[in-house]
Amino acid sequence: MTDDFLIRFWGVRGSIACGGPDYAIYGGNTSCLEVRVGGHVLIFDGGTGIRPLGEALMREGAITSAIYLSHTHFDHICGLPFFGPLFDPKNHFDIWSGHLDWPLTTRDAVASLMSAPVLPIDPDIFQAEVNFRDFKSGQTLYPADGITLKTTALNHPNGATGYRIEHAGRSACYITDLEHEGAEPDPALVEFVLGTDILIYDASYTEQEYAQRRGFGHSTWNAGLALAKAARVGLYVPFHHDPGHTDPIMAKLEAEAVLAAEKVGVACRFARERMELVPGRTEPVPA
Ligand SMILES: [Zn+2]
Ligand SMILES: [Zn+2]
Repeated sequence: MTDDFLIRFWGVRGSIACGGPDYAIYGGNTSCLEVRVGGHVLIFDGGTGIRPLGEALMREGAITSAIYLSHTHFDHICGLPFFGPLFDPKNHFDIWSGHLDWPLTTRDAVASLMSAPVLPIDPDIFQAEVNFRDFKSGQTLYPADGITLKTTALNHPNGATGYRIEHAGRSACYITDLEHEGAEPDPALVEFVLGTDILIYDASYTEQEYAQRRGFGHSTWNAGLALAKAARVGLYVPFHHDPGHTDPIMAKLEAEAVLAAEKVGVACRFARERMELVPGRTEPVPA
């Protein structure tokens, strides 16, 4: 059953990767999720976490998959040039984004990262069959039979897309990067994540940090918890952790959030690298 719908976290950090012993428990790679659903592999974001995901996938043989970008800020695409499966002609990838305004395309955004003198290679170097694809946030996508991918626009500088993956009566939502507005959850976002089994949410900042960083496009675990409670989600998973939050800080924040969530009847667990979640369960798959 766990093979039918499973989420594995390969990068949980926002803004910039952070290595070293201070990040050994929660992890330092930037955003990347592997979602195994209905016999398919879907990838969300291409942060630095996609590099080790690529190594794992290459051990499985030829790969046909799709990469759905929340948006094309650096921390969400910087791993793509180092994603090994893109360099193997046996593989096939569609790379999607939905936040750009035409005539700007997903390919343009990736090409702007992969261009001299920033990087000496451009996207034509990929030997896999790669199709860059574009949609508009709000459209519904159908990655494969039995899998529905709903999308919504998020409040973030240059735009971002939130996703809701649905399969066989279960669902998970990937809601990063966004800034909340006001004290109450956005009714449209409540409706989008309503009743979902897993809500992964941009909780970059503490409330104190947020007060100094309004307009940066990120949120807090407190705002995410208000959303999770209003939408009656099964498990609330704060994500896109600030690189300044070392393991001891993260442990303290998680303890505070879990306690606050318990008080309002919400299960909560912070995203950490290699954690595996199954929609419908509130405990991770044992490592
Ligand atoms: Zn980000
Ligand atoms: Zn961003």
